[in-house]
Amino acid sequence: MNICIVGTGYVGLVSAACFAEMGNHVWCVDVNPDVIKTLKEGKIHIFEPGLEDLVKRNYEDQRLFFTTSLKDGLDKARFVFITVGTPCSSDGSCDLRFVENVAREIGQTMTDSKIIVDKSTVPVGTADKVRSIVKAELEKRGLDLEFDVASNPEFLKEGDAVSDFMKPDRVVVGTEKKETCKEFETLYAPYARSREKLIFMGTRSAEMTKYAANCMLATKISFINEMASICELVGANVREVRLGIGSDHRIGYYFIYPGVGYGGSCFPKDVKALINTAKEVGARPELIEAVDSVNNRQKKMLSRKILDYFEPQGGVRGKTLAIWGLAFKANTDDMRESSALSIISELTEAGMKIKAFDPVAHIKAEEILRDNDLVEIVHNQYEVLEGANAVAVVTDWNQFRNPDFDKIKEALLAPVIFDGRNLYDPSYLGSNGFAYFSVGRRPVG
Ligand code: NAD
Repeated sequence: MNICIVGTGYVGLVSAACFAEMGNHVWCVDVNPDVIKTLKEGKIHIFEPGLEDLVKRNYEDQRLFFTTSLKDGLDKARFVFITVGTPCSSDGSCDLRFVENVAREIGQTMTDSKIIVDKSTVPVGTADKVRSIVKAELEKRGLDLEFDVASNPEFLKEGDAVSDFMKPDRVVVGTEKKETCKEFETLYAPYARSREKLIFMGTRSAEMTKYAANCMLATKISFINEMASICELVGANVREVRLGIGSDHRIGYYFIYPGVGYGGSCFPKDVKALINTAKEVGARPELIEAVDSVNNRQKKMLSRKILDYFEPQGGVRGKTLAIWGLAFKANTDDMRESSALSIISELTEAGMKIKAFDPVAHIKAEEILRDNDLVEIVHNQYEVLEGANAVAVVTDWNQFRNPDFDKIKEALLAPVIFDGRNLYDPSYLGSNGFAYFSVGRRPVG
């Protein structure tokens, strides 16, 4: 099949490479010439395990093409996937500017029948909006071309994106047309071999499914974080509580790890966007509003503990904190809405100096944090500790799970660890002379 992917970011590039890997011919279009230049040089502009090899191989085999010209991408394509960003507006609603621009350009450029697919996460009703924009542009050109606008929300996780796309839990397709369903069946047959994996529904249900899924996952995180806060106050251990509740298979163990709150480019904005949609139609989204506000509080949990700890020592002004991990989660370089950024902002506002290390996100971090004079990015996991008053573990990278505690002790001015991911054993650290603060468990030392 011939496919055009518009927007070559995390979702667009992964989708393109995975479609190409199954023998399709895929044109990737992006407005950013630097992105296209990098891809043509055989490199990728984002960090995603396994993606670079896949992109390189399919580009060399001429199944993957990169261009800044939508016309080149559209010419031969039957499917046109819109995979541009849908950021959060200042009022919490979903900013559809980029999607609408692409719809307009498609209407101005297409010359034959297409299946246009919203893969970006978009509010209910967007497919209808895209349809009217394309139709209006075609009318301006005096054309009456046949096209469908389907919804095919993406459920991949950064860090596991390639395997999520290749072996999806499910593929949701929203369309009102039977013929479109058949073409999607062919397109996704190599990925969704069992028929139940391909779920067809109405366009609005598909759009809503993506928000419902992300809000459910965000709810699980805020729920366990709230349990963790209560555990701390009543002297329970949230790790034990997680095991106790997860053993009930109606609850399960997945996605109930307490931590520094959810971040990334999806959950925060998607929860806010659904709150916004619900209010627009007169619903009262009380539960997801609470999920959002628990998360905002949780993102400040670690910095609060740090401020409280240093208070009796004259506060954090002039002191230095080492941070392990800046990405919003492990195995990605994505720092959008990362909890590390909230922690850094709160502590530097109070006058604390930050030295931070991340194995992959350091390049993006240098760019994002370059105007903050109190922040220094260090490129070595142990050097970053030297001369710091404490270390805070913010991202759960594997290399932080079993560190050399003697080296940590040697490098820090005092053996103090703030662990936002519950990676370590409090009794081990307590008996080795550390002061150790984690989430939903009693502090030691
Ligand atoms: P991204 O910011 O990484 O990539 C978007 C790309 O679109 C950028 O490279 C940008 O230059 C390009 N672009 C913008 N306007 C364009 C235009 N008119 N023509 C061509 N290219 C254009 O975004 P992302 O993280 O891949 O997210 C894309 C969508 O997928 C969002 O709606 C997001 O919510 C959703 N989503 C993201 C993830 C994820 O983990 N990142 C997972 C599922 C769904």
